[in-house]
Amino acid sequence: MKLNLGFNLVAGIGLVALLAACETRRAAVPAGKRTIIATYPVLGAVVKDLVGDAFDVKSAMPNGADVHEWEPSAKDIEALTKADLIVENGIGLEGGMEKSLDQARKAGVGFFTAGSHIVVRHVGAGEGIPSDDPDQKAGAEDPHLWTDPLTVKAAVDALAIDLKQRFGVDLSTRCADLDRRLVALNAEIQGQVDALPLNRRKLVTGHESLGYFAQRYGFKLVGAVIPSLTSEAEGSAANLDALKKLIKQNQVSVVFTELGTSPRTLEALAKEAKVTAVSIATHNMPANGDYFSFERDLATAIIQGLNH
Ligand SMILES: [Zn+2]
Repeated sequence: MKLNLGFNLVAGIGLVALLAACETRRAAVPAGKRTIIATYPVLGAVVKDLVGDAFDVKSAMPNGADVHEWEPSAKDIEALTKADLIVENGIGLEGGMEKSLDQARKAGVGFFTAGSHIVVRHVGAGEGIPSDDPDQKAGAEDPHLWTDPLTVKAAVDALAIDLKQRFGVDLSTRCADLDRRLVALNAEIQGQVDALPLNRRKLVTGHESLGYFAQRYGFKLVGAVIPSLTSEAEGSAANLDALKKLIKQNQVSVVFTELGTSPRTLEALAKEAKVTAVSIATHNMPANGDYFSFERDLATAIIQGLNH
């Protein structure tokens, strides 16, 4: 889906902020410190939580951009090829970065792929809107692993082992602490979900981005404005009609919108299906936040939205 003007403005501000942050950080980093580049900010936040000051952690993509679509500039590619390690999501998430990541791989940069160390979720039969889109048909692999704290935990554990083997850096104490915090975060969200009536645990989103969250906490994935695992796909009039039927059948009253959801489509949907649109941040970080504030904000916005 094409980006609207509002998004470009936000991305522009995010880029300026990121560049400023990089400048400051570069000055503060002692010489010889190894650099880890995570492909997107939420993943970068998780890596930072694990490694602390043992590495210099950066995100390739500025906060506010769309990880499915964002393409690195020549300067970004140069930074990627100079990294000591690139931490990517994989499972087809980084659509716009694929060529650049291949380039870095060929240049000999080490890679850690989070998606290779988790139990990958597959689109279930009858989930959402039936589609021939290879990104959405039953069995397709879902890349949105960061929306479930325990899936993040699996990736963190594997990364700690990788960093020990690769660089001899022992992060076992930090890793055990982070694991405990992720388990506690999961319990905290589960507690909030438990208070939500069963018949409200239904999700309609911009694209199919909350699969891991839904799987962990027992939400039904009713459908999406763009019936795909990526915001790169396009919704159609037929999709929208099908979605309206599903919204009615499931007595859904709230639609969660995210980056890349067309405001015009939403307006039509809200009017015709009589639903309220609630904006949630599924792919980007809150200002000055860490992974924990990201996930708490996301869970709270979903639960409050459904409980209104
Ligand atoms: Zn997505």
